[in-house]
Amino acid sequence: MAGDREPARVAQTPVVFAELAAMRGWIGAQRAQGAAIGFVPTMGALHAGHVSLVHLLRAQGCSQVVASIFVNPTQFAAHEDLSTYPRPFEADLAALAAAGCAACFAPAPAELYPSGEATRVQVGGPSLGLESAPRPHFFEGVATIVAKLLIGLAPDKAAFGEKDYQQLLVVRRLVADLMIPVEILAGPTFREADGLAMSSRNVYLSAEERQIAPHLHRVLQETAAAIASGGPIDAAIAAAERELLAAGFAGVDYVAVRRASDLSVFTENFADAPARVLGAVRLRSTRLIDNVGAEPMG
Ligand code: AMP
Repeated sequence: MAGDREPARVAQTPVVFAELAAMRGWIGAQRAQGAAIGFVPTMGALHAGHVSLVHLLRAQGCSQVVASIFVNPTQFAAHEDLSTYPRPFEADLAALAAAGCAACFAPAPAELYPSGEATRVQVGGPSLGLESAPRPHFFEGVATIVAKLLIGLAPDKAAFGEKDYQQLLVVRRLVADLMIPVEILAGPTFREADGLAMSSRNVYLSAEERQIAPHLHRVLQETAAAIASGGPIDAAIAAAERELLAAGFAGVDYVAVRRASDLSVFTENFADAPARVLGAVRLRSTRLIDNVGAEPMG
């Protein structure tokens, strides 16, 4: 008929749960039918990087993938963007549906931090330094919410992005130390065409800042190349900091070269094992982090 359209084939919208008990009930029912459960914790404002973690879990044998959308208050400092963090819930559900995500856990803060709650996960090891310097309580908040979610939902596998490399190692350490029976998978960093790592916070960038932002990835790559060819770490870091300021960043919180396995420092002034080059820079009001790998030759 004129004007009628073939209905678009829409992917199944994920079932949304706001309560932990109901979410667990769904997971239990799926598992009873033989499903392997994958889990992607997020703060929403989803982009291709988040979605890639759903695909990664499905490719790794998880027949049902659950994503959580929860802007975790305990990882924000008072001056940070908890209240303004983007929350495009309907668009997020559409993105999860398109990725084949079966269920979404989207609790209110009081569901995960009920009145009287008083427990935090204390972190050490890979949490020390780097992101912890400007954000001292950040990884305690991350570890607390990740522990609550992994223990509460009890997935078979959970996926985290290398974009937040220090967080990934904190989560691996947390799971090992608290003996949480889950397999942690790591997904590569998804980037815009010009190299800028995708981030929910990129919407904060002005047009001018958006032009400067991809230089972080470029400089980290150049640093990785210098390290990989046996160059001294100190000189590569000093060059990177100069380059970042020349590119227009307002400040450099750090550029660091660490062991990829545990973020420990190289005691000699060169990398003798797989390394990670990590950087954090500031624009007027936005902070960007990124990292790349460096494989020393021979
Ligand atoms: P967030 O919503 O920022 O807390 O991120 C949720 C998960 O997505 C974390 O495991 C992040 O490391 C991961 N992630 C964020 N950005 C990217 C990206 N550009 N590429 C791959 N994974 C990402």
